[in-house]
Amino acid sequence: MQEHNLHVYNTLTRTKEKFEPFSPPFVGMYVCGPTVYGDPHLGHARPYITFDVVSRYLRHLGYKVRYVRNITDVGHLVNDADEGEDKIGKKAKADQLEPMEIVQMYTNSFHDAMRALGNIPPSIEPSAAGHIPEQIKMVQEILDAGLAYESNGSVYFDVEKYAKTNDYGKLSGKVLEDLISSQEREGVRNLDGQSEKRSSLDFAIWKKANPEHIMRWESPWSDGFPGWHLECSVMSRKYLNFPFDIHGGGMDLQFPHHECEIAQGKAATGIDPVKYWMHNNMITLDGKKMGKSYGNGINLDQFFTGDHPLLKQAYSPMTVRFYILMAHYRSTLDFSNEALQSAQKAMQRLFNAISSLNDVKPSGSSTFNVQEWVNECYAVLDDDFNTAQLLALLFESVKVINQLKDGQTKLTEADLDLFKEKVNLFVFDILGLKDEEAQSGNQEEVDGLIKMLLKLRQDAKLSKDYATSDAIRDEIQALGFKILDGKDGSSWERQS
Ligand SMILES: [Zn+2]
Repeated sequence: MQEHNLHVYNTLTRTKEKFEPFSPPFVGMYVCGPTVYGDPHLGHARPYITFDVVSRYLRHLGYKVRYVRNITDVGHLVNDADEGEDKIGKKAKADQLEPMEIVQMYTNSFHDAMRALGNIPPSIEPSAAGHIPEQIKMVQEILDAGLAYESNGSVYFDVEKYAKTNDYGKLSGKVLEDLISSQEREGVRNLDGQSEKRSSLDFAIWKKANPEHIMRWESPWSDGFPGWHLECSVMSRKYLNFPFDIHGGGMDLQFPHHECEIAQGKAATGIDPVKYWMHNNMITLDGKKMGKSYGNGINLDQFFTGDHPLLKQAYSPMTVRFYILMAHYRSTLDFSNEALQSAQKAMQRLFNAISSLNDVKPSGSSTFNVQEWVNECYAVLDDDFNTAQLLALLFESVKVINQLKDGQTKLTEADLDLFKEKVNLFVFDILGLKDEEAQSGNQEEVDGLIKMLLKLRQDAKLSKDYATSDAIRDEIQALGFKILDGKDGSSWERQS
């Protein structure tokens, strides 16, 4: 395994900590997956691209990563609360389909979108409905530990009792007393026997299904279904064992979802389940959070086709990926067409530079310190996966490539090989970008044909047939290629 100095920002301690997994070279990473009741949207792109890069970089360092990402197909109720309809059940009724048809349909569209964005599939993708017996078992363990109680067929986690001996609120920075007093202010604390819960802070780990609820299973307490928070505790424990190394997700999941996961895991097993909690920040629109539940979400398909009133054009999946990587994952990222357009241009510039690197010839000596540049690239990745700074360094490399082409900068063969290898490594293997246009056609054939046209244009020029040479130039440009006239003849690149 490669020596490294990787530091990871841990939400739990609010510091960057040296990354030291429990049993190297193995790394266990769990990331909360989607609730599959609608088309994947921009809010899905950011966490899954972020943790895709995390797993790619860890694997590059030599770790054997087991990446578990669940599919939530039951138990996630509308409004994320303990009452109300199941999101999937509700959609199934509205569309007159079986809940599992809804699950299948949107799991498929989620997978399509993830593939388009270049994300490597997780090692295991378990679903909540496939783990009901394990969830019933964990409910029983928490009851046995005396940290949950049954009420009218439902089972609730006893937050205040747990908090007497555990730090409930540490992850999300919430203080129990503040939660209690804010509920008192809102008049929801004293439930006056109207609720099954002893305290409104308590959360359901098993819910009795009301008669019209479709998705239900037998349990010792009632015909019902597991609470939403429970599935992640159960599936992360099953496939990674407690304690495991990394738990990831969006910042909006810190409370209550992840706080509840810690409490359930600790209550059932006595073990703090996770070492490093990592959270990506949100995407905003005019300073407000963006997403389906905020009413301003844009589906990924709509990005790819441009079919949405907020979009001025279509953006390729790789443009969306590049745009997301332009910000560090813990910074907010503001949505705008301008930001996406500049991502598109920048990415094309980067790809053009990389493909022209093959034409560079080595020199007897080097005037650019490749190794130092490589070290800087590793340093920014080691600093909590800073893709924004890595892209800045890659744009420095674009300048170097342009200087290499016109001879202002020179590299020996060994340095040139190292430079090519690392540029390709960072751009394609670690950031996971793909030069879709270069891959969509046969690059060599296109290259050969355009070189032939450039030669014809050159011949026309030499015989002073400027009408023909200009016509060839215009035709090439109309096809989306830019002609670069240099002292050693002409070359071409794709228009950015
Ligand atoms: Zn989760």
